[in-house]
Amino acid sequence: MVKWVYTFGDGRAEGARDLRDLLGGKGANLAEMANLGLPVPPGFTITTEVCTFFYENGKSYPPELGSEVEAALDYIGGLTGRVFGDPENPLLVSVRSGARASMPGMMDTVLNIGLNDVTVEALAKRSGDERFAYDSYRRFIQMYCDVVLGVDHHHFEEMLEHYKEIKGLTLDTELAAEDWKRLIIAFKAKVLEARGEPFPQAPREQLWGAIGAVFGSWQNPRAITYRRLHDIPANWGTAVTVQAMVFGNMGETSATGVAFTRNPATGAKELFGEFLLNAQGEDVVAGIRTPQNITEAARLAAGSDKASLETTLPGVFAEFVRTANLLEKHYRDMQDMEFTVENGKLWMLQTRNGKRTTKAALRIAVDMTQDGLISRDEAIARIDPASLEQLLHPAIDPYAERNVVATGLPASPGAASGAIVFSADEAEQLKSAGHKVILVRIETSPEDIHGMHAAEGILTTRGGMTSHAAVVARGMGKACVSGAGGIRIDYAKGVMTASGVAFNKGDILTIDGTTGQVIEGSVKMLQPELSGEFATLMQWADGVRRMGVRANAETPQDARVARKFGAEGIGLCRTEHMFFEGDRIIAVREMILADDEAGRRSALAKLLPIQRGDFIELFEIMFGLPVTIRLLDPPLHEFLPHSQAEIDEVAQSMGVSSEKLSRRAAALREVNPMLGFRGSRIAIAYPEIIEMQARAIFEAAVAVKKITGELVQPEVMAPLIIAKAEFDLIKARVDATAKAVAIETGVVIPYTVGAMIETPRASLRAGEIAETAEFFSFGTNDLTQTCMALSRDDAGSFLGRYVARGVFAADPFVTIDQEGVGELVEIGVLRSRKTRPDIKLGICGEHGGDPASIAFCEKLGLSYVSCSPFRVPIARLAAAQAALHRKPESQA
Ligand code: PEP
Ligand code: MG
Repeated sequence: MVKWVYTFGDGRAEGARDLRDLLGGKGANLAEMANLGLPVPPGFTITTEVCTFFYENGKSYPPELGSEVEAALDYIGGLTGRVFGDPENPLLVSVRSGARASMPGMMDTVLNIGLNDVTVEALAKRSGDERFAYDSYRRFIQMYCDVVLGVDHHHFEEMLEHYKEIKGLTLDTELAAEDWKRLIIAFKAKVLEARGEPFPQAPREQLWGAIGAVFGSWQNPRAITYRRLHDIPANWGTAVTVQAMVFGNMGETSATGVAFTRNPATGAKELFGEFLLNAQGEDVVAGIRTPQNITEAARLAAGSDKASLETTLPGVFAEFVRTANLLEKHYRDMQDMEFTVENGKLWMLQTRNGKRTTKAALRIAVDMTQDGLISRDEAIARIDPASLEQLLHPAIDPYAERNVVATGLPASPGAASGAIVFSADEAEQLKSAGHKVILVRIETSPEDIHGMHAAEGILTTRGGMTSHAAVVARGMGKACVSGAGGIRIDYAKGVMTASGVAFNKGDILTIDGTTGQVIEGSVKMLQPELSGEFATLMQWADGVRRMGVRANAETPQDARVARKFGAEGIGLCRTEHMFFEGDRIIAVREMILADDEAGRRSALAKLLPIQRGDFIELFEIMFGLPVTIRLLDPPLHEFLPHSQAEIDEVAQSMGVSSEKLSRRAAALREVNPMLGFRGSRIAIAYPEIIEMQARAIFEAAVAVKKITGELVQPEVMAPLIIAKAEFDLIKARVDATAKAVAIETGVVIPYTVGAMIETPRASLRAGEIAETAEFFSFGTNDLTQTCMALSRDDAGSFLGRYVARGVFAADPFVTIDQEGVGELVEIGVLRSRKTRPDIKLGICGEHGGDPASIAFCEKLGLSYVSCSPFRVPIARLAAAQAALHRKPESQA
């Protein structure tokens, strides 16, 4: 027979914490606290299975539930010496929700059930406090009406305010019993008027009304949204806990409060919390009275003149400290507790693992490990890798008010404020005049790079998570919101419009690249700081991880950041990005637009020393670590000149007319640039380009060897490969150049040549390509694009709907689509290993910094992941967690 109801109280319980799925978090923890012998008001929990039954059976209950609830009410009555519904000695109860996963404030609660016109008198007599009894009764009517009867609480608030006005009173506490009695009469009349029937007086009707409302609240819009945002399945259901009421508002030796066993903001080992004397739980939340500190130390630190619990009720305080310590040891984690003191007796109402900032999470995990409470592996497992973002970038103060005018994709984390500019040049000018700026563009392209450098953050109205703006901003560690489609930009007028508000150049705007929010004006920020615990935890993570973590970096600045964050090499140096800066783009355009080999060679001659110089710097920074250099992969639309000024500039540099150059640029324009003349196709058509690049690489390696004595081992990588024969042509050129440089310089540089697997065909033919390719790196940005036929640049405008409607659980450009794209990766892995069992396999798409995708890479046994520099710590931790997950038995 199914058991629907589990009781707890008086040092024992039918349930325990491992019945969380059945009893919900709150019910399971109350049972556990009762089992520990802690003072918990007795009660019972109706299981989540009843919730499932309720929704599967037209909102009805299992037939046995009624008698099980009656028996449980008798059980509580036996422990409290009271009787539910008794006119002389009434038992009053609360009814609360409690799902498996905590959903704070999303579902309903009703307190003081069992009060009516008769029992309120008994409560007054027994407590000796008539005011308290009638105040409780009116609170009950308000709450019950709001939650169960659908009579909005503002009706009652208005009546109360009106009453206070007439009587010349300001605070609720100034109302006497007689006032509450009068208001209760008016409240009940309001219920009758609104519903056509009186406020229910029968305690059992009240109880079942509240139980039904709590089960009903599982499907309220707030709860549904919360579940969607936190991946909580709808079929889990909520449990309902019915518990004997204890009152914190019974006078000056009564109180109610909340506390954490450690400081949830800093992680410091100190009891942290607040309480209110003579109050009920909702008064603390309502913020009408200023709560008091629990410990004397906290009171002194806060400079508060209100007595602490430690001095007001020292006996209660001592017991609370004992209880808090016991709970933390028992749960082996920081606890968030609710308690009530009724006439000098402490009652624990709830405990759960406390929410905390990332900074606190790190400190708590490290402290607890050092105190022997948890193992290192547990400490590693407890930190959400994605939450490390909070530490690495400025963040908006979570308590700050904000006016969000638009939302886009959270393309590069961190928050930034500054004056709006609409062009890269303006960004540079204002920045050099000492201003902070936000660069606002429809989309960005290589010629915006200087402006992106100058800006605090970048906002675009088009483009997805792997668009130019997103990728470049992440590399630079700058905040970026991309694809904010609700914003209109008028470059000519220098105006952008969002939510009907017009913003001019120079107006202050804030963007939050962690959430995608675009906010009017400036908002208070919290600056990042890296604690000692961060380094300790990272070191522990490095101790257990199997996969290497490299960075996608090409500029010296990015490479330095990558190294500082613990990158073990460069997994992707996008050489075309090295040409974004300054005058270089003109030479690159010259090379692209040249109409014969001689023209190209003359442009290449200008680029060779620049490339060589860049590689020397990069090799020196990455000293001792591998560097994977990808040969040129310029999607043409990102590199062709657009404006007349840009065309004139290149024409002048090439010594040809602007008209001729315009024609050549027009001829090169493509309908589908992402599927066009890019990747290794450029190397096949114009091998002199990769010859120049290979020469720059090897000459740089020779130079570093001569300067430092250090032998660098470049890994040369061909992009967007589709066939073995194509790869072989490229490899032959690289090999020939390596040989030539060795002969010219007398220095032999060890190197490898590998391929990027970023087309489905390359995955399928991986076995064959691996005959000559010495390593593979999965370019999952393009592989996602080509596997799904989803344009990286355009998908931003519609992909959100695919996620909202559940077609995909996540944006496939952020978290790898394991079933589709993932299978292509797996095929590539299996087939390449068959040919070359020890082949080095990595991933360098944006997925290389995404924890869920990293777990997938671990499953496939990849050698390393490579991601943007600021994500390196996240990847280190995620790789460690993935390795622990694979380990059958975790050990300390
Ligand atoms: C990729 O396609 O995954 C990749 C890393 O290359 P890019 O983003 O430069 O196309
Ligand atoms: Mg690619």
